[in-house]
Amino acid sequence: MLEWHNAMGIPMVFDTLSRPLRDLRISVTDRCNFRCVYCMPKEVFGRDYQFLERDQLLTFEEIERLARLFVPLGVKKIRLTGGEPLVRRDLERLVEMLARIPGLDLTLTTNGALLAKKARTLKDAGLKRVTVSLDSLDDDVFMAMNDVDFPVERVLEGIEAAASVGLAPVKINMVVKRGVNEGSILPMARRFRRTGHILRFIEYMDVGHTNGWRMDDVVSAREIVSTVDAQMPLEPIEPNYRGEVAGRWRYRDRSGEIGVIASVTQPFCGNCTRARLSAEGLLYTCLFAVRGHDLRRLLRGGASEAELAEAIASIWRGRDDRYSEIRSSETIWLPKVEMSRIGG
Ligand code: SAM
Ligand code: SF4
Ligand code: SF4
Repeated sequence: MLEWHNAMGIPMVFDTLSRPLRDLRISVTDRCNFRCVYCMPKEVFGRDYQFLERDQLLTFEEIERLARLFVPLGVKKIRLTGGEPLVRRDLERLVEMLARIPGLDLTLTTNGALLAKKARTLKDAGLKRVTVSLDSLDDDVFMAMNDVDFPVERVLEGIEAAASVGLAPVKINMVVKRGVNEGSILPMARRFRRTGHILRFIEYMDVGHTNGWRMDDVVSAREIVSTVDAQMPLEPIEPNYRGEVAGRWRYRDRSGEIGVIASVTQPFCGNCTRARLSAEGLLYTCLFAVRGHDLRRLLRGGASEAELAEAIASIWRGRDDRYSEIRSSETIWLPKVEMSRIGG
């Protein structure tokens, strides 16, 4: 295990595969106003589903305290997520608290439903950028995917509101599921080319257990790129930084770029520098982790800053996850946490 020091002489942590801790995704709620079929299918997340109670969620003060401990260990970027982060009341207050932490890039992933209303206050609170999920421009397809009849137009309004207040460039995430929305690949590419927004296609993943994932439902990144390239010629571009998960391509006529996240067909575990904190304070070292480490128990049990920092560091030092590299017909049956719990 390597030990390096950052500019302030504080040790950074590396896991058993020499991967540093760089990114932290914080889920602020397990609730959502959508029921995307690939994430929170209605049959499971219905009326009787037991969501977390309020006192089980980390408070904003607890989240800030943990965030401040992650930064000296190497974290440079925090992404707020969920469930749907914008359904957590007063989220702007948390954004304001986290935006005060020096040296941190603060972003958020949202389904966009409440973004038109909240873009300005989020920006004023100190948010830097947003990623908005949108799986199709066709209302019938999109509504069948979000499963709550939410119209495309309102998400587009959210995207424009975000761009107009300067939460830019806006990234747009499109999960591609075979037989469901691969017909939306080209319309989405055409719509967002020349806008300055960055469209990112995501391979459908076997997260959690409720979405009934099958390899046959995955449209590979290679197939997505060749579909776009056939109509709007593309060329590859260099990653922005080591560990960037999206492969980058730009239109040869320089009218913009797209990303492809090939988590299934071209795993990138070797460069994975992400930790995930669930809404109830469990720390996960992989999207496909079987169990999380209970930081809330430590927080509420009176642990000191030094004890908390050491607990986080030792969890990271013990990390050996590389699920996507070892994915097989057997691994899809392993117990895993649901995406809506840890936020993708
Ligand atoms: N509710 C927010 C949203 O949808 O943007 C944030 C949480 S959501 C879990 C984060 C991202 O995970 C979204 O872009 C979503 O499309 C993606 N996602 C969810 N389930 C997925 C799956 N089975 N495969 C690939 N991506 C998935
Ligand atoms: Fe909600 Fe996002 Fe999951 Fe869709 S992908 S159900 S919007 S958490
Ligand atoms: Fe990272 Fe786990 Fe995904 Fe591999 S499978 S890239 S270790 S989150």
